[in-house]
Amino acid sequence: MNNSFFDTKVEFIKGVGEQRAKQLNTELRIFNYGDLIQHYPYRHEDRTKFHKVAEINEELPYIQLKGKMKYMETVGEGYKQRLVVHFRDGSGEVELVWFKGINWVKKSIQLNQEYIVFGKPTAFNGRYSLAHPEIELYNPTAAQTGFLQPVYHVTEKLKKRNLDSKALSKITKRLLEIALPNIRETLSEEIIDAHKLMPKRAAMQHIHFPKDIAHLQKATYRLKFEELFFTQIRLIQQNLFRKTVYPGQIFKSTELLTTFYNDILEFDLTGAQKRVVKEIYKDMAAGQQMNRLLQGDVGSGKTIVAFISMLLAIDNGAQTCLMAPTEILAEQHYRSLKPYADKLGITIDLLTGSSNQSSRKVTHEFLQSGDLKILIGTHALIEDAVQFKNLGLVIIDEQHRFGVEQRSKLWKKGQEVYPHVLVMTATPIPRTLAMTLYGDLDVSIIDELPPGRKPIKTVHRYDSHRLNVFGFIREEIEKGRQVYIVYPLIEQSEKLERLKDLEDGYESVKRAFPTYHVSIVHGQMKPKDKEFEMQRFVRNETQIMVATTVIEVGVNVPNASIMIIENAERFGLSQLHQLRGRVGRGAEQSYCILMTDYKLSKEARERVKVMVATNDGFEIANTDLKLRGPGDMMGTQQSGILDLVIADLARDGQILEKARAAAQQLLKEDPDLKLYKNIFIKKQLASIQQHTTNWARIS
Ligand code: ADP
Ligand code: MG
Repeated sequence: MNNSFFDTKVEFIKGVGEQRAKQLNTELRIFNYGDLIQHYPYRHEDRTKFHKVAEINEELPYIQLKGKMKYMETVGEGYKQRLVVHFRDGSGEVELVWFKGINWVKKSIQLNQEYIVFGKPTAFNGRYSLAHPEIELYNPTAAQTGFLQPVYHVTEKLKKRNLDSKALSKITKRLLEIALPNIRETLSEEIIDAHKLMPKRAAMQHIHFPKDIAHLQKATYRLKFEELFFTQIRLIQQNLFRKTVYPGQIFKSTELLTTFYNDILEFDLTGAQKRVVKEIYKDMAAGQQMNRLLQGDVGSGKTIVAFISMLLAIDNGAQTCLMAPTEILAEQHYRSLKPYADKLGITIDLLTGSSNQSSRKVTHEFLQSGDLKILIGTHALIEDAVQFKNLGLVIIDEQHRFGVEQRSKLWKKGQEVYPHVLVMTATPIPRTLAMTLYGDLDVSIIDELPPGRKPIKTVHRYDSHRLNVFGFIREEIEKGRQVYIVYPLIEQSEKLERLKDLEDGYESVKRAFPTYHVSIVHGQMKPKDKEFEMQRFVRNETQIMVATTVIEVGVNVPNASIMIIENAERFGLSQLHQLRGRVGRGAEQSYCILMTDYKLSKEARERVKVMVATNDGFEIANTDLKLRGPGDMMGTQQSGILDLVIADLARDGQILEKARAAAQQLLKEDPDLKLYKNIFIKKQLASIQQHTTNWARIS
């Protein structure tokens, strides 16, 4: 775009002026022409189509009717007073209702004249009505019908000041008239041709005021593509930049791995695990700092990959650490890796919030001397007192629990050279999307489960069927299995109430199963007591574990084959999937039972449905993304780069793939954008960089 033109303040558009400009500034953060023209409509109303009154149902969003006002009446008293106009179109009658401006509407309505009415139908007492519809006398000669009207996001405040969507559309139209000649192409002819994109100028016109649906779609596609394309260029450049700026320790000796794999590890790695180990080993030998995301569904065997990665660093004289989000999980990692480490003669220790002062001190000393090779722990690892002699590899488990900030804090513990970083997550999402969300990370995926796993059977049961469910539990325990019963997490605000739910649940389970032993674990317990109860369950001294989501991540008890999730509607999808992943780890058939009330929101029903339908973590993550949106899901939005205006990462995955491929190809051919044919791209990039500060900051 032509910068100086688009930097012009909005107040200079005819009909805006200082007052309205101020409102646009504060309410929508629209300051200049560029901001306004990029305030795209979020949908268009199809004024090309008329519905029949008889077709009205509540599923319809906005509808347009053509017909006559037959008669009107004022109903109710005082603030409940409303004007009801009876509108007919030959197929039936619907009520148009006004609560405000009654007198004015009453005066302006002409009975028995043909009108076009536009509004959203709602049902009340079995009858449909349209509240505060837009009405307009039908004029068959005017071009008032047959177009797609843009609908813009505005705030209530703006509406009150007569800056509603319609007003905004008028202003935007005026701006477009003078702006069009100033809109420059931002992509190369090559890319436009290859992807059959609409030119920029036409796209800006049709995104606001499309000629028809096809033009709107082409314009939308073009603008989304462009936005994602430039995002990808910047991410790729940032990644390349980091790789040249940050050297990495070079780890080459693989003797430990050979010993471990040939003599100690009791199973073969899956093909996917082998592939991923190769990727990691290659990274750590390359001389640049590794920043890799390891994705793998629950149970896919990430822990052993982590350990094998540590072996490479240790083999080459460096120290390693593994950070987990909860104490239970850190302890479990420690317990499962210690036997391996012992057999190899590698020192390993655990550091959590509940490690006592004196043992902490010893740990610190051994770390500093370099004698301690593997340190496993929780957030406690981030504390300043924890200093390594030569930290070569940092592994972070279940990354979505950690912010970018904490990640970079751990990094800084590498003395001369930054340590390699491996982030593990059980939220599998498509590679390109992961690369975009995690920005600077390369991605490895374990897409294969260890052999011999039986798929978990998932069912949905209403609370009223609890007796049946209990009967089923009893049968399974008779066969020697163990059972988890999980309650929603206790949040600060509802601690008492929820803790009571959990404790009531615990009591009723004990009553229902008097001959079995029942454990209880929740976040309000002392870590020591939690651990004690966990251990009883691990040793099969208790058959039923009543818990909150503290057991969500990573806990591994292969004999537990039933997961009951109470109030399943209160959990997010990826959480449900994580919980379910606690079973299905042994040779037996496992079950996950989602318990809910009859009443469920549409979204909750959707979540339950997906859980019952599939065990595939990718599918679950994609649905989650659609329901919740990407920012929410990751909790680690890369600021700046991901401030998308029009593209939606949850929905535009395919465009994202194409845009990334195009960006990659471009940078491969012309890394510094020196070729003349790419001049528009170079200019646009410069303009974006001028407007967003700090994007090259490494998180
Ligand atoms: P997650 O990816 O969820 O962290 P874990 O690393 O906890 O999964 O592995 C789950 C279980 O699978 C562990 O008991 C582990 O020992 C076992 N496992 C991992 N890889 C293999 C394999 N290749 N063959 C057999 N079992 C494996
Ligand atoms: Mg794990």
